[in-house]
Amino acid sequence: MGECIFCEIVEDQAPARRLIEDERTLAFLDINPATTGHALVVPKAHADDLLDIPVEDLTAVTVTAQRLARASMTALEADGVNLLQATRAAAFQTVFHMHVHVIPRYAEDGIRLPWIPTPGDPERIDETADRLRAAL
Ligand code: 5GP
Ligand code: ZN
Repeated sequence: MGECIFCEIVEDQAPARRLIEDERTLAFLDINPATTGHALVVPKAHADDLLDIPVEDLTAVTVTAQRLARASMTALEADGVNLLQATRAAAFQTVFHMHVHVIPRYAEDGIRLPWIPTPGDPERIDETADRLRAAL
């Protein structure tokens, strides 16, 4: 992969505030933190996003995210944690090396959901469920 910043970080060719590493994953702090402790977990092997990451790497990324979530609760005294994964530009992805954001949450951090929960049309929800089931 040419020009992938997260591959460069994995290979220690670019600086990062590295937090934890294992055979398949690396976690480091985000340079634009949404909250104190906002971290990214990446597979060491390049994958573009959630759609192409092998399941073994996805599992390992999730386990590392859980470790970070637990550490955020204790070391940073977070009140909660959000995981965020963006796949494709339409979903906010800007770095096209699969990563999971681990965002410690604090009672007064002011972060809001990016949508307003509103009841959907039941028929449309039923139809959507049918379309998805047909593909699963
Ligand atoms: P995305 O929008 O793709 O889900 O998130 C990409 C994240 O990577 C952003 O939160 C951004 O701040 C972070 N980021 C981009 N470049 C770098 C970098 O060079 N180092 C670190 N530590 N984070 C980065
Ligand atoms: Zn990469």
